[in-house]
Amino acid sequence: MEPPLDRTTTWPYVDGEAGPFHYARNAHPVGVAVERRLGELDGGEALLFSSGMGAITALVLGLLQPGATIALARDAYYGTGVLLTELERWGLRHVLFDQRGPAPAEADVVWIEAPSNPLLTMPDFDAAAAHPGLVVCDATAATPVHLRPLEHGCDLVVHSATKYLGGHHDVLLGAVVAKSAEHAARLLEFRSRSGIVAAPDPAWLLLRGLQTLDVRVRAQTDTAKALVGLLETHAAVENVRYPGFGALISFDVADGGAAGRVETATQLIVNATSLGGVTSTMESRHRWEGERVPDGLLRLSVGLEPREALWADLEQALAGA
Ligand code: PLP
Repeated sequence: MEPPLDRTTTWPYVDGEAGPFHYARNAHPVGVAVERRLGELDGGEALLFSSGMGAITALVLGLLQPGATIALARDAYYGTGVLLTELERWGLRHVLFDQRGPAPAEADVVWIEAPSNPLLTMPDFDAAAAHPGLVVCDATAATPVHLRPLEHGCDLVVHSATKYLGGHHDVLLGAVVAKSAEHAARLLEFRSRSGIVAAPDPAWLLLRGLQTLDVRVRAQTDTAKALVGLLETHAAVENVRYPGFGALISFDVADGGAAGRVETATQLIVNATSLGGVTSTMESRHRWEGERVPDGLLRLSVGLEPREALWADLEQALAGA
């Protein structure tokens, strides 16, 4: 059974001494229960944060030194690059590289994403693991159901738990899973000091979401595979990107105009950002990412609706492409 939702922020000392829980910025029971579960799923020590970006901020500021150079996968989630650009004025450098090959040798950190959002490339794990730097893998789109990056030579895993881990478009959370106890301890220390913490309410919803993670992601993946086959044969679809697993697909229609017509014509698939929920969402990523992605690119996050209904919706929307 999951622990009850406990919103306590302060606990009495025991004989004048702080117990395992004393102040909620440091730790709280629901957060610890989620971290235990996430740690089991990825095979490491998990720390929960207030969002995926909060997790990335804590990792970068907590574990790296000013002057460090991060080799960032060119395809990585655009928000990661935006944050690293923001942090340049604090003395962090980053360089972009193609994650399908080795990272620049001089980098202190290799930052890969498996698969990348939204271009869905996979990193070369062997090349990353052979690099002397710290290896971080954002595995938001894969989830531990499909991939455990710590088993592929990575030191740290990042998740936007807002996506598949939560699974219902109703929690904003993030996590870092560390291979080493030292990294986990330092992240806990930095999190307690910085206050980039998850509140008990979303943490409890995440705990509930994790109970169905496996069955959700497997069903969504089965549907996604079926839709990939159908999209590949559709006359209005020029290119389908899919890494062979998971529930995220991106495909191209002719241009930005066609993408706009298709995304606004769906009736079952919600025209919205984000991904990973039981409700399918689709959007043109060009609106956010500009020239980084083709203007005809549509990112589809496949939910739990019947596959026939999803295909019927896509077909009628694509008819207007
Ligand atoms: N990493 C990836 C791959 C993402 O797709 C996202 C959000 O879309 C994030 C990190 C950031 O997560 P959050 O929105 O929970 O801050």
